[in-house]
Amino acid sequence: MNIERHVIEAMLAAARKAAPLEACGLCGGRDGRVSRFYELANADASREHYRMLPAEQFAAVKDMRARGLGLLAIWHSHPETPARMSEEDLRLAYTTDTVYVITSLAAPDAPDVKGFRVLEGCVEVVPVEIVETEGTGES
Ligand SMILES: [Zn+2]
Repeated sequence: MNIERHVIEAMLAAARKAAPLEACGLCGGRDGRVSRFYELANADASREHYRMLPAEQFAAVKDMRARGLGLLAIWHSHPETPARMSEEDLRLAYTTDTVYVITSLAAPDAPDVKGFRVLEGCVEVVPVEIVETEGTGES
């Protein structure tokens, strides 16, 4: 999956702002390329898990559709642990066609971003490639 640089930067900013709590959000794009990031509230305000509010998720997906984008990834941060699916993440993984992207701040100077897909309880790594932002007028 390709993620535009400005999205990676927005994820990192959201993760740092929320730390030591987890941050979460949704990623919109098309053709396997993420071009838009939606920061959502972590309703659980927890250091170990996150919960999105349905109304915020709905508003984000509606905005994606209006822009001709689809929901490509569900994002959250791990303030203190590596970028991998926790047991709780697996338990809450309800979709197989969306990539779960995790940004880890465990090494503050070298933040890590990884993607995962969950198929019948099995975790598959989805390589994340950072690509330069395309076009203009997109923020
Ligand atoms: Zn997690």
